[in-house]
Amino acid sequence: MSVLVVGTTALDSIKTPTAENPRLLGGSASHAAVAASFFAPVKLVGGVGEDFPPKYLALYRRHHIDLAGLQTMPGKTFHWSGEYESNMNNRRTLATELGVIETFSPTLPKAYQSVPFVLLGNIAPALQNHVLNQMTRTRFVVADSMDLWLNIALPDLLKLLKRLDGFVLNDSEAHQLTKTDNVFSALKKIHALGPKYVIIKKGSHGSILSGPKGFFICPAFPLSKVVDPTGAGDSFVGGMMGYLAAAKGPVDVNIRRAMVYGSVVASFCCEGFGLNRTTKTRHGDIKKRVKELEKLTRF
Ligand code: AMP
Repeated sequence: MSVLVVGTTALDSIKTPTAENPRLLGGSASHAAVAASFFAPVKLVGGVGEDFPPKYLALYRRHHIDLAGLQTMPGKTFHWSGEYESNMNNRRTLATELGVIETFSPTLPKAYQSVPFVLLGNIAPALQNHVLNQMTRTRFVVADSMDLWLNIALPDLLKLLKRLDGFVLNDSEAHQLTKTDNVFSALKKIHALGPKYVIIKKGSHGSILSGPKGFFICPAFPLSKVVDPTGAGDSFVGGMMGYLAAAKGPVDVNIRRAMVYGSVVASFCCEGFGLNRTTKTRHGDIKKRVKELEKLTRF
């Protein structure tokens, strides 16, 4: 089955303690779509400006990502810049320039509307709601978000939460949303807002799922060198949704393994700037790391 991915298709300027890279291909949808494409066909919904380099379109195509829902509009592509501290779990947003995303309100191609697995990647919650309104036969809908939207669009986000099967956010956002530091208490409070599955990401410390079958602690793959963690969260959820779309059987049986696959794809993302390492990853590399994680966590 296919996965529909909506989110930002961006140009990212990223600064780490050792390097600086301007205008890389980034955005929540780019990272999630490439990650999901390792497992299942992907249909992308996004908007870019006239400055979007054709080589980045070619990159999506190499991953067999359906671009019928990617619009090129007059204006500038969404641009994000961020800077990491030496502890790469900490980063600062330097600038968010919405560009064409500010007025983006897509009508989905007909073939997109019946896709069963829907990933509403990080973008304005009003837009996530708008896309979901057009879907006719969803089986599993998951959304991701970010502190910016919690700050400026909370009512839209709360409306969205009621319509989701799953919600993924990081620990600081969970704290911001629920006003609690305790991750298990936060999970409970987020369930009360709607989603049956809630996943809290903890950067290099992995993630925690709370769902109908209880909790699952998903490890992050141990990396001794992180080059650029931008997009790791999107790669995680993209990989997870791709795996779920490809797997036989119900979501609640497959979701733990799907998270582990997502976690492994995210580890590759961290080993290069932007999508540089993810796009060089092969299916065999993913399988090998999943096996290693299995060994590391068995007791
Ligand atoms: P992550 O590291 O998983 O949080 O994702 C970072 C990616 O999200 C980058 O590629 C950015 O282009 C994109 N991004 C940054 N800020 C936003 C935002 N406010 N809304 C949507 N996408 C964003």
